[in-house]
Amino acid sequence: MIEDKNQQRTPLNSLGEFGLIDHLTSQFKVSHKSTIKSIGDDAAVLEFKDKQVVVSTDFLVEGVHFDLSYVPLKHLGYKAVVVNLSDVYAMNAQATQITVSIAVSNRFSLEALEALYEGIQTAAKIYNVDVVGGDTTTSTSGLLISVTAIGEIEKDNVVYRSGANSNDLLVVTGDLGGAYMGLQVLEREKQVFLVNPNSQPDMEPYTYIIERQLKPEARKDIIKLFKDLKVKPTSMIDISDGLSSEVMHLCKQSNVGCDLYENKLPLDPQVISTCEEFNIDSTTVALNGGEDYELLFTIAQEDFPKIKANPNFTVIGHMTNANSGMYLVTRAETKIPIKAQGWNPLND
Ligand code: ADP
Ligand code: MG
Repeated sequence: MIEDKNQQRTPLNSLGEFGLIDHLTSQFKVSHKSTIKSIGDDAAVLEFKDKQVVVSTDFLVEGVHFDLSYVPLKHLGYKAVVVNLSDVYAMNAQATQITVSIAVSNRFSLEALEALYEGIQTAAKIYNVDVVGGDTTTSTSGLLISVTAIGEIEKDNVVYRSGANSNDLLVVTGDLGGAYMGLQVLEREKQVFLVNPNSQPDMEPYTYIIERQLKPEARKDIIKLFKDLKVKPTSMIDISDGLSSEVMHLCKQSNVGCDLYENKLPLDPQVISTCEEFNIDSTTVALNGGEDYELLFTIAQEDFPKIKANPNFTVIGHMTNANSGMYLVTRAETKIPIKAQGWNPLND
């Protein structure tokens, strides 16, 4: 299902490496002043003047991080960029450039890579980042994509994972668990499809959660919102592996504990209904389902009035002393220690 059988299929080796790079990257335009030299030399040249520079990189491996039987290549390209930008925003920084490296086998056609790059280009445009380089090589098996994101920030505005204080409020953007439940639906439909290729599933009840899985967005808007509201979080992380695992990172690196309230967890109605259908506990999904790419951060209590009226934010708990531990306070008001059951790349 990589591509439509009726579509044109130009073999990659008909272009050669340089022809391919040229073909894929000729569309990219530069829009940041900090990009002095983009694609075309041995290295890109960037200049950030008095800003600090943040750099983050991620790998996506076919069969581990994505399954091409239900992930369209265009979406994959988009997602590969977005998940990296999310890490830059999690530092409270503005993303400015990316590099994109791919390893492909001859199983892929030029048209398939064009689709991948269409997604990359769309994301670069929407998030306003320059594609300034990359690398292209062959793979003997699957597709590998690595994106490196670069961002800029004024020195005093960087937000680390380590700055949370006891009594700070714990806040999350958007809603949780959607990407995980979207994946459950896609996996189920894949199995149905394998048994009956003519089945036409009704995906209407799942549009939001499938989009959360296939076409996630990074919260660039929130970084601007912080500026407008004059809020500087004391600590921040993006939610890629699941809320409980990210909460633990904030607590451990800040040397604090936390109380997280089950009844405050933000859930979309589609997540709730799909959890009921799959007979999965929605709290477990909100805590451990990954890939939502929302931001999790802490603020001082006195900043609460600045964020309280904003629908992007949900206060889900508060930080405590390190020796109090990390707890989920359930609807029944019992306290359960938080454990990270988030996705562990080395156990997968
Ligand atoms: P080198 O041999 O020095 O690695 P390449 O021929 O691989 O150089 O790359 C030439 C130019 O194209 C460089 O600017 C590089 O960053 C860029 N480039 C290579 N592959 C990609 C890619 N997949 N996406 C974007 N830019 C790329
Ligand atoms: Mg190279």
